[in-house]
Amino acid sequence: MKPRLCPLCGSERVARAEYGMPAPEQAEDERVFWAGCIVGDEYRYGCHECGATFDRPAMAASAASH
Ligand SMILES: [Zn+2]
Repeated sequence: MKPRLCPLCGSERVARAEYGMPAPEQAEDERVFWAGCIVGDEYRYGCHECGATFDRPAMAASAASH
């Protein structure tokens, strides 16, 4: 579930993190945080306010499977 507030700065501008190259119209969509091309260290959400990324899927997966 998407956090409502950024855990670092408290901003509400939290968005789903996406990786890769956005189309121009996607880059302006605040619902998506473009985290760039990072391999092996992917976070699920990002903050438009401070640029932080958080909530790694690996941590959530291990908690859910036990
Ligand atoms: Zn933030």
